[in-house]
Amino acid sequence: MKKALAHFNTITKHKILVMKECFRVGLYRQGLLHDLSKYSPTEFRVGCKYYQGTRSPNNAEREDKGYSSAWLHHKGRNKHHYEYWIDYSLDGEKMLAGMKMPVRYVVEMFLDRIAASKVYKGGQYKDSDPLEYYLSGKAGDMMHPETRALLEKLLHMLAGQGEEKTYRYIKKYVLRRRTGRHYICAPVIKRHKSGTYSG
Ligand SMILES: [Zn+2]
Repeated sequence: MKKALAHFNTITKHKILVMKECFRVGLYRQGLLHDLSKYSPTEFRVGCKYYQGTRSPNNAEREDKGYSSAWLHHKGRNKHHYEYWIDYSLDGEKMLAGMKMPVRYVVEMFLDRIAASKVYKGGQYKDSDPLEYYLSGKAGDMMHPETRALLEKLLHMLAGQGEEKTYRYIKKYVLRRRTGRHYICAPVIKRHKSGTYSG
């Protein structure tokens, strides 16, 4: 029971933080729905059973069972995870690859990372922490190159110019229908075909 309450508090604290960040850039619907499946029995029960307080219960479930049923359930339902977008690639032979994510979910993924860093660092949080965390972690080979380029661009902008400027940029350019939908960096990549995604 104690673990259930602690797990509920952890996921709710995170959810409220992401909601606040989403509202700041105008993603109201996503702000409200973010990670809602964590409250479903499939995910919530696992979260309680494997609650540890210092790391994700999914890791503990994975070590115990060999896979995490909660994570498989979660990534299959939440579009801000790039793992949701892994599918058979069109050019490879039945190979799985990361599909290009719609920008609004790349932005939600970015804000998710900010919220997680804020909880983890507490009062010590700096705008460069999400970038540092990204660079230190396994960045996921399965993320689409253009999706990754946009995520990295936002992380660097946050580290260098702060929240206000980055959020304004997201609202004004990234989430704008005409320019944002195809990513700002997309035309550059197509023209040069250089294989680099500097955006
Ligand atoms: Zn999530």
